Amino acid sequence: MLAAPRLSQLRGLDYSVLQQCMHCGLCLPVCPTYNATKLERNSPRGRIALMRAIADGQLEPTRAFADEMYFCLGCLACMSACPAGVNYAELFEHARAEAEESGVLHSPGRAFLRRLTMRWLFMNLGRLRLAGALIRLYQRLGLQWLLRHSGVLNLLPSRWRELEAMTPVIQPRFSSALIAPVMLPNGPIKYRVGLLTGCAQDIMFSDVNRDTAQVLVRNGCQVVTPPRQHCCGSLHAHNGDLEAARILARRNIDQFPPVQFDAIISNAAGCGSHLKHYARLLADDREYRGRAELWDSKVRDIHEWLVQIGFTPPGPGASAQTVAYHEPCHLCHGQKITSAPRQVLRAIPNLALAELPESTWCCGSAGIYNLIQPEMANTLLDRKIKHIVSTGAAVVATGNPGCLAHVVNGIRRKNLPVRVVHPVTLLAEAYRAAGNPPHEHP
Ligand code: SF4
Ligand code: SF4
Repeated sequence: MLAAPRLSQLRGLDYSVLQQCMHCGLCLPVCPTYNATKLERNSPRGRIALMRAIADGQLEPTRAFADEMYFCLGCLACMSACPAGVNYAELFEHARAEAEESGVLHSPGRAFLRRLTMRWLFMNLGRLRLAGALIRLYQRLGLQWLLRHSGVLNLLPSRWRELEAMTPVIQPRFSSALIAPVMLPNGPIKYRVGLLTGCAQDIMFSDVNRDTAQVLVRNGCQVVTPPRQHCCGSLHAHNGDLEAARILARRNIDQFPPVQFDAIISNAAGCGSHLKHYARLLADDREYRGRAELWDSKVRDIHEWLVQIGFTPPGPGASAQTVAYHEPCHLCHGQKITSAPRQVLRAIPNLALAELPESTWCCGSAGIYNLIQPEMANTLLDRKIKHIVSTGAAVVATGNPGCLAHVVNGIRRKNLPVRVVHPVTLLAEAYRAAGNPPHEHP
């Protein structure tokens, strides 16, 4: 029996999405990869032309096509610049899925790594926490220090050394140990919200999740934070595994039935940008489509929500600080949220906001881009750090775990006395400094 022909992701896409590009080139100056190489194929316009050629049947997916799709950061700066409203986010996801499903990148090692991470670790956050706990043990026992100071690392290939240097610092306690499943405000309950604690955010920045819960409670929200949550699926959607992304979207909708909440809160820009498009992801799912539409209407980035409900500015008490704000791509380009984080920061007493040059330019983190494209990621990181230094700020604020971890690495590499922090943490600290006691886990 003949095998059924493979269904092309790009050929199956609504053709009007591919047709929208009018080749004007206004997206070229904002594209970091085009900026670096000046090659048309590394630009949004060039990539869309490749995708369209495949959709039209003029080109079969090749290794070069797949490499190009993985050289793209997915930063979506092109979407902000595009006058024709090209939905590059949707094209990008389908193009990477096309690259994966065509098999042109296949190797046994790569297939094993993808199964291990995307289909095993990130499909069950208990496993991710276990991996996090092992890394924490390695760091706590001083093995990491020993490895870094003994010279053993010099025996490893340079790529392994680079990866080791990027090992994130694992938090002493994960979100479920810091946040009660239900937290109530001291006064009347004005809103009922669900708090998504994320995957990387949970093991690397659980303190940011705790601060988010405290800030929400301080502003009249009943906060529901189930201790065992699911990945949002953005990692899968952005890396060509749309089927796994759909499974995770359904699990999240089941865990946080949108009809029960005024808002579903994310404090991770990359997750939020994906979470707001479950309806698109589940468009062919008759059982979940309706709930996914309601879900999309309820998802809010934390800064967006705080501004929407008119959050209470902290009273005096915070120390003076100058803060530069780096805009995560998936907040400013993906979600079009640029003013709300600045409003949150400006509300903090004694805080001077220093405008960061090229604040909307990608830092190079871009999900797992810094792991798979280290050269380009480091070029962008150096550019970002240079701008941070130019502001003279002692603090950089940014609302995405990938950016936080990547910028921390850049600051550490240059040995700079700069703190990198989520804006919500600065707000929570200001409430504490003003004498509002934080809500601790009972
Ligand atoms: S997503 Fe970013 S890197 Fe990719 S084409 Fe658009 S601007 Fe360029
Ligand atoms: S700005 Fe938009 S329409 Fe113009 S080339 Fe870029 S993607 Fe196409």
